Amino acid sequence: MARVIDGKAIAAKIRGELTVTVADLKTKGVVPGLAVVLVGEDPASKVYVSMKEKACSDVGIFSDEYKLSAETSEADLLSLIAKLNADPKIHGILVQLPLPKHIDTEKVLEAISPDKDVDGFHPYNVGRLMVGKPTFQPCTPYGVMIMMKEIGLDLTGKSVVVVGRSNIVGKPVALMCLQQHATVTICHSRTKNLADVVRSADVVIAAVGIPEMIKGDWIKEGAVVIDVGVNRVGEKKLVGDVEYAAAFERASAITPVPGGVGPMTITMLLYNTVESAKKQKR
Ligand code: NDP
Repeated sequence: MARVIDGKAIAAKIRGELTVTVADLKTKGVVPGLAVVLVGEDPASKVYVSMKEKACSDVGIFSDEYKLSAETSEADLLSLIAKLNADPKIHGILVQLPLPKHIDTEKVLEAISPDKDVDGFHPYNVGRLMVGKPTFQPCTPYGVMIMMKEIGLDLTGKSVVVVGRSNIVGKPVALMCLQQHATVTICHSRTKNLADVVRSADVVIAAVGIPEMIKGDWIKEGAVVIDVGVNRVGEKKLVGDVEYAAAFERASAITPVPGGVGPMTITMLLYNTVESAKKQKR
């Protein structure tokens, strides 16, 4: 039976610490500010944006929302980003993805100043992570690393299997684990014998987006399981990428879905915004 890694509790602890830091910064005349840019009407994006704004206000971060119509031109979005890059009240800029098809996402992400790139998606920050000198680290993988640290897991020499190679989760979390001296394998849709690769892992990090595709009997006895997947099944139920009940019986520690990695993502966004504000103070 596994220890359940309580993402909500870890996130609440970090948010409590951030509230204190933000209050302290305010006494020094710095109010951390996050600009949140939403283009279009995607319902999931609207929910994420409002969750991010509420989280900001809970810890005392100033957030400014820019809701643009789905027809907004790429040029108009780029000029808003240029304005925010130059705005001293704004320490972090978040452009909610996905963007409408007529806008080049890469161009937009590259237009955000690397100094305000609190999502950690700008190639400069991605490159810094690659060379082992991270600046802003992407929020979901960063949250995963904090969770592993919280349970006292030392990755040195451990075999970590990451399932998924996206730029926002799989690849960066693999680099972060490598930085912590793990032996890392990255799997994806063309990986052969996935079950056997997962069976070899001391730590499994699942970021696929397919409900319970990683079976409980693939989990090595005593392995740590981090499930990044969030999949809606039916009207209300959310499940991860790992077959939770069966994996729970074999793992030494496991993240639940919901209440695992999810709450950490927004928390690390707040963390990055506060770090950015601290840099401005110096
Ligand atoms: P992507 O769709 O960008 O990437 C999915 C990855 O899974 C790809 O690399 C893909 O391989 C791989 N994959 C697909 N099918 C298989 C398969 N059968 N076997 C092995 N690998 C496979 O997803 P994201 O990385 O953006 O997200 C992954 C999951 O994490 C989703 O459920 C998402 O909702 C969740 N998520 C949760 C967050 C949170 O805050 N909790 C934040 C971000 C994401 P290939 O590259 O070959 O196509």
